[in-house]
Amino acid sequence: MGEPRRDPIRRCVQQLSRLPGIGEKTAQRLTWWLLRADDKLVAELASALAELKQGVVECQVCCTIGASSPCRTCADTRRDQQLVCVVERPQDIGAIEASGDYRGQYHVLHGALSPLDGVGPDQLRIRQLLARSPDLREVILATDPDVEGDTTALYLARVLKPLGVRVTRLAYGISVGTEIEYADRVSLMRALENRQVL
Ligand SMILES: [Zn+2]
Repeated sequence: MGEPRRDPIRRCVQQLSRLPGIGEKTAQRLTWWLLRADDKLVAELASALAELKQGVVECQVCCTIGASSPCRTCADTRRDQQLVCVVERPQDIGAIEASGDYRGQYHVLHGALSPLDGVGPDQLRIRQLLARSPDLREVILATDPDVEGDTTALYLARVLKPLGVRVTRLAYGISVGTEIEYADRVSLMRALENRQVL
């Protein structure tokens, strides 16, 4: 008895429906769209997916995920090297870059403190941030405006201030929402401009 032949359509639907925000129906629609799409497009997509995990590294400086370490931002000497904006996720960097003229560096925590979920300081890239502190003038805390983000900001302020670093927090307006990644450009720009000293 050999392995039953896997149905490629079913397999594709199953894999796609595991993605966040994609239900069974959407997975089916995408699968049928891909079946009719140009061979080249489908091959490109397959190779992009295959390379995604192998082609990226964590930046040794700011801990973001990308094609090189140090990443392009850390390697850009025209940016202010003494100013660091701390975010929860790599994709938050894109949101802050899009907001306008922030010209400092970044640090990615890869999450926020959440004792109930077992996320303590050791689970985040806090040690790496503290290692950068002797070279820093100001750290802007841009963690999300929710309980975990606030807890993280307070914790970081407590450990960074004794090291002689100016610590500020984004000034959140009501329109910012709960995740930096989805905040609109104008709100983020104002939140950066009006950041408050902790
Ligand atoms: Zn970097």
